[in-house]
Amino acid sequence: MNASMRQHETGRGQSPGRSFKSKKKSNGRAVRLDQVIHPTQSIEISGHVDRTDKANRNQSHTPLRVLQLDVTGVPQSWMTTEMAAGHLVTGTVAWYAGELPLAVLRGGVNAQTGVQSILEIPPIIALRGQSRINLHDCVPVLTNPKLFRRDRHQCYLCGGIFKDADLTREHIIPTSRQGEDKWINVASACKTCNGLKGNKLLSEMNMEMLYAPYVPSLYEDLLLRGRHIRADVHEWLTSKLPKGSRLS
Ligand SMILES: [Zn+2]
Repeated sequence: MNASMRQHETGRGQSPGRSFKSKKKSNGRAVRLDQVIHPTQSIEISGHVDRTDKANRNQSHTPLRVLQLDVTGVPQSWMTTEMAAGHLVTGTVAWYAGELPLAVLRGGVNAQTGVQSILEIPPIIALRGQSRINLHDCVPVLTNPKLFRRDRHQCYLCGGIFKDADLTREHIIPTSRQGEDKWINVASACKTCNGLKGNKLLSEMNMEMLYAPYVPSLYEDLLLRGRHIRADVHEWLTSKLPKGSRLS
């Protein structure tokens, strides 16, 4: 993942019947004027050992996501504040959680009263209707950024800590020898170790793995996917992690 991938969703206004204005800042990037976030109350979930200046600058513009649950409280996905606003104004939110609003969206001014409408977006919302995800048979999609975060950016062979760009998805049983491309058969390895192991088995190379791979739970997957998660939402998710999770 790189910082540029965090640039998204400015001023789309997905809420029906509303439009949200955006304004150019001095650096030329369009940002939401009406979105108030609390950067000091959020944390970055990342095993990166360092961040570039550019990434640090971009972090302040990263929109926080709303955690979407089904009506029974099972997490479904992350959504933008605009999407959450759409659900709030159309009445599809069953209940919500979180102390302070994640964002405050300002709508139009009422011509008669002169009062501007304000919509507070909670950090966690539960939607009415059918759940899209069954908690018990959900296998999160395997991607390299999530794999590296699962493994805390540590090479499973030499123990070194590396950035995304210097890590690889290593198949413990090589795919050339019928090893599967699944969470349970992959681990993060630095390029050097990956090259050394090649298409051999660990036993053939007299190598040992420093940690075991595992399939992330749905809650872990949400933590792995969320790049910028507010502290109270992070706490809510980590409270539901399985015992022994490396993300807790
Ligand atoms: Zn290594």
